Amino acid sequence: MAEFKTSPGMRDILDPESGRWRRFVARFEQVVESAGYRQVIPPLLEDIGVFQRVGEATDVVTKEMYDFVDKGERHVALRPEQTASVCRAFVQHRPTVPWKAWYAGPNFRYEKPQRGRFRQFDQVGIEVLGATDPFLDVEVIALGWSFLESLGLREVSLQLNSLGEPADRERFVAALAEYFERHSSSLTSESRATLAKNPLRVLDSKRPEDAAIIADAPRIASFHSVEAAAHFSTVRDGLERLGIPFAVNDRLVRGLDYYRHTTFEYVGGTLDSAQNALGGGGRYDGLVADLGGPATAGVGFAIGLDRTLLACDDEAVFAPVAASVQVFVIDTTGGAEALALTHEIRRAGYSADRAFEARSMKSQMKAADRSGAEIALIVGPDELGSGTVVVRPMRGGDQVTVPRSDILPTLQKVLS
Ligand code: AMP
Repeated sequence: MAEFKTSPGMRDILDPESGRWRRFVARFEQVVESAGYRQVIPPLLEDIGVFQRVGEATDVVTKEMYDFVDKGERHVALRPEQTASVCRAFVQHRPTVPWKAWYAGPNFRYEKPQRGRFRQFDQVGIEVLGATDPFLDVEVIALGWSFLESLGLREVSLQLNSLGEPADRERFVAALAEYFERHSSSLTSESRATLAKNPLRVLDSKRPEDAAIIADAPRIASFHSVEAAAHFSTVRDGLERLGIPFAVNDRLVRGLDYYRHTTFEYVGGTLDSAQNALGGGGRYDGLVADLGGPATAGVGFAIGLDRTLLACDDEAVFAPVAASVQVFVIDTTGGAEALALTHEIRRAGYSADRAFEARSMKSQMKAADRSGAEIALIVGPDELGSGTVVVRPMRGGDQVTVPRSDILPTLQKVLS
């Protein structure tokens, strides 16, 4: 018989880890909903063109996409990220601006699986479309920061850069191209290939052989226009005012091509340097227009759930919590009483579980222990005969026998 396992880079998430994932998203929801962000749930699959807009020169788009032609001859792809989908949704529905949206869910990239890098991975994120105010950049960065802080993470640092206005970026890219071409014989062949497509992305190289050439490459700050410099300075002042520490890293260009002005990354101090970005984002424009909408500014971030939870493990915070029920019903009379009692208790709003297969009293008590219940309700032949139930506190205290009809008020009294 064939035995199937998950494909490389794909995982089953079981309890209690699945509960931790849920709490992660719930915590994120709490942080961003209370700042006026509302959820958008884009589809997992879109016309491949939506994602191609993100950057023709990025690995995410050129090498890692899960794409196929569907039965209607449409060339579609599983989303590798959600910013492009959110922008596509904006163009399609034209919500009032500024549109503050948040999302959570899986993305797919055909990458080489390793610690902190999977082929299906979850992200939470926010995007704001339709406002250019630098204070919004600060709000966005601060929300991601607060969220990571709320998980208990302490060894996260914030790296910040500005890529300037599109024209600044163009002049910078031209200068970079000229510089790298002059030194191309000292670059790795991978970086030479990147150079031909997008000189900016050579700065992303983490290969040690490229480090010396990259270190002396032109720096974006010397290409900032007056407006870009002012925007960046307002962002830095805003972060300082909020007491959020950051380091300016003028080599931070981020993987995707559509960034302008502010870019940032939350870096996990405990993770290996190749996979230490918990999340990141920045300001972009052009994307909405590329997708057929009006020129619209955008700013946002995505935080990787998987990698952030690895950082939580390393820092021993936001640990998985064993789930429990409040009540466990033990029935040694065949199981029909347990059926009725659990149903009644659940309908009254309590959590309750029971054993099946008419197990022995001892075996049902063990199951009650495992369930983490505060209270066991026991029905044996005597209780069944007299219309009563034994209420036994599982963590010490005396058990009492109460009439079957008094179960709900009794639970209300004894459950904390
Ligand atoms: P990006 O969309 O590439 O800017 O990635 C944002 C965040 O998503 C990263 O910092 C990671 O935490 C996470 N991420 C990206 N790719 C993967 C992957 N293949 N596996 C796990 N997490 C990922």
